[in-house]
Amino acid sequence: MNKETLKKNLREIPDFPKPGILFYDVTTLFKNSECLQGMIDELYEMYKDKGITKVVGIESRGFILGGALAARLGAGFIMARKPGKLPAEVIEETYAKEYGTDTIQIHKDAISPDDVVLLHDDLLATGGTMAAAHRLVKRCGVKQAYVNFVIELEGLNGRKAFDENVEVTTLLKL
Ligand code: AMP
Repeated sequence: MNKETLKKNLREIPDFPKPGILFYDVTTLFKNSECLQGMIDELYEMYKDKGITKVVGIESRGFILGGALAARLGAGFIMARKPGKLPAEVIEETYAKEYGTDTIQIHKDAISPDDVVLLHDDLLATGGTMAAAHRLVKRCGVKQAYVNFVIELEGLNGRKAFDENVEVTTLLKL
């Protein structure tokens, strides 16, 4: 996928959701058919030979490409959600945020030790959210858990939230 095309179609919203934050709005990438198809194609090429059996999408912008990619890879799709959303028994991880903590959950029976997992979200900022989701998946005993984002904010150095042996890929570095 051409990086300039992605950049051109990504909307930036200053001071959302609060003053001082530059929000990268991926809805404009999802609504553009060339970008949507191009991102799915690129991700498919990156992961088609890794033996992925489950894609885990992080609520909620990770559900879009995560779901599409799972279908394309012939893998299952798992929702990682905020507390109180999943109906059956859950396992969870809590992580530190700028102010306070947050928690991410998956169903207890979502992932088994024989799975090869790809975790996906729209944007890597500090890495706190995805690192917690990665710990959650590793607790299920999986052999391998890959991590992918559409966008990486390089200045925030979110990669350091992950162990060196975790393979983290991104489609667009900003
Ligand atoms: P973090 O845990 O700091 O890596 O934050 C990642 C989560 O927050 C992702 O689910 C992103 O969608 C969201 N996020 C953080 N910063 C931004 C930003 N500047 N623009 C859009 N989404 C963001």
